[in-house]
Amino acid sequence: MIIVLKPGVTPEEVKHIKEQLKRKNLKAHMLPGVGRTVIAAIGDTASIPEQWAEAMAGVEKVERIQKPYKLVSRETKKESTIINVGKVTIGDKRICVMAGPCSVESVEGLISVAKDVKAAGANFLRGGAFKPRTSPYAFQGHGEEGLKYLAEARKKTGLPIITELMDPRDTELVERYSDIIQIGTRNMQNFSLLKEVGKTRKPVLLKRGLSATIKEFLMSAEYIMAEGNHEVIFCERGIRTFETYTRNTLDLSAIPALKKESHLPVIVDPSHGVGKRDLVAPMALAAVAAGADGLMIEVHSDPEKAWSDGDQSLTPAQFAVLMGSLKAVAKAVGRTI
Ligand code: PEP
Ligand code: MN
Repeated sequence: MIIVLKPGVTPEEVKHIKEQLKRKNLKAHMLPGVGRTVIAAIGDTASIPEQWAEAMAGVEKVERIQKPYKLVSRETKKESTIINVGKVTIGDKRICVMAGPCSVESVEGLISVAKDVKAAGANFLRGGAFKPRTSPYAFQGHGEEGLKYLAEARKKTGLPIITELMDPRDTELVERYSDIIQIGTRNMQNFSLLKEVGKTRKPVLLKRGLSATIKEFLMSAEYIMAEGNHEVIFCERGIRTFETYTRNTLDLSAIPALKKESHLPVIVDPSHGVGKRDLVAPMALAAVAAGADGLMIEVHSDPEKAWSDGDQSLTPAQFAVLMGSLKAVAKAVGRTI
């Protein structure tokens, strides 16, 4: 149930509305907007008549949300959500680019690639310290040591960092180091992990599950928002299909679909989407043309020697060329980069 507040609602009226909702065992989520501020009342609202809420001072009207995802839905919040991380914004006119290696390897290597992607115009440094590898014998990431390397690279370059959290037990640790917490594709429906990051106060980048439908993707974001963390970013990174030429099939239609259904920002990771270096740039351009708010691109100083995902990593020079060509596409769709 969405309670639309009157433009001049007072803090006392809001407090009273929240208290009344609490008495009905409903959780109140404030969703401020430019045009209107709403309180999303989450819980068993079926037996609560609209008139009950409409009678309270400060309430303009009450709307029922039909979709199973409530807080995530554009029905609830009409205007697009913009997430601020320091000076970087995600979801506004400017395309946000997150770039860096698949795994955090050496601190020197990380700093070097961080400087290169920053010079080319990236807004974020990415890199995994906890790696979800198919084989238990493959490099699993440096763990906390890797987080320290990321923090060092942030200090040297000023780039904020995004890194993956895999285990609910590491939530406090990853939250402390990272500027955005990444939930990987394999954990999109790890509901305990989603609830944990929902309790943090760092934005969460949620990657689409390997075989997840758009509706399941939206519902997973709802898990995070329902815990009180409203800063969620969708990341389309390819899904499993019958096609084996590419590592995954990058679902570009997910971009306008998610933008239609939800007010949350949508970014695209063409690197994991295609798995092949030469296909990354065309899909990055296509993603921006289709309305993506940002990109996540794997970049490595020497992809042949990368500890993971070298085949899909761009060299810093290739990344710089891509950043140049993105300008024209961004401009054509009314964005900047
Ligand atoms: C990653 O971004 O490092 C990663 C492992 O991606 P995904 O979860 O999409 O496979
Ligand atoms: Mn990778």
